[in-house]
Amino acid sequence: MDGEASRRNEMLSTLKRRGIASAAVLEAMAEVPRELFVPAHLVELAYEDGALPIGDGQTISQPYIVALMTEAADLGHRSRVLEVGTGSGYSTAILSRLVGHVFSIERHDALAISARERLARGGYLDNVSISVGDGTLGLPEEAPFDAIIIAAAGPRVPEALRAQLAPGGRLVMPVGSASGPQQLNCIVREDDETYRTEVLAPVSFVPLIGAQGWRR
Ligand code: SAM
Repeated sequence: MDGEASRRNEMLSTLKRRGIASAAVLEAMAEVPRELFVPAHLVELAYEDGALPIGDGQTISQPYIVALMTEAADLGHRSRVLEVGTGSGYSTAILSRLVGHVFSIERHDALAISARERLARGGYLDNVSISVGDGTLGLPEEAPFDAIIIAAAGPRVPEALRAQLAPGGRLVMPVGSASGPQQLNCIVREDDETYRTEVLAPVSFVPLIGAQGWRR
């Protein structure tokens, strides 16, 4: 086993120890090489359980948090998923292993371009579309979504995203102050009118900047 494979195994042991139980999520995390998604000078740290800088003041999310959010979204092979905040493309690649199609939006042009390149290099683009824009408004033309995963923290769940969630679907999002305490929430749309919120964990995310997020 090479160094990266053994570090990836250690990462998987950490995820299991911390309570990630979904075999499908663990399998996807075992399959996607995180080193492909981190800057070259940080490759040695690719399998540490922490966030890392990716440029433009943004980060690739911590593996445990990616796993927790993915597991909470309760995805199926045919799910259509909206991801807000493509970042490095790492969580997009994980999602692509689990669902029918991933629609991912990133507000930074440069990050979207490099994420698309990495996803192409890894062979993940068959069921992934990346667009540049304000993800707080979602993608009305592709709605409804079976799951929506938002990888940046907003003051509240954007109304546009609530409306684009299919009945029975789940929206996973950090909510809280831009630089202070935040909690990871899972919102289940039980029917047309009813949404139920479950609190998953305290978290620390970069701000969700946009019309229905924080103003820059
Ligand atoms: N999950 C990503 C990964 O694995 O690399 C990390 C995402 S990073 C923590 C959050 C991303 O959300 C940043 O790339 C940031 O530019 C983006 N973002 C913030 N507000 C946004 C918005 N309104 N629409 C789209 N992307 C947004």
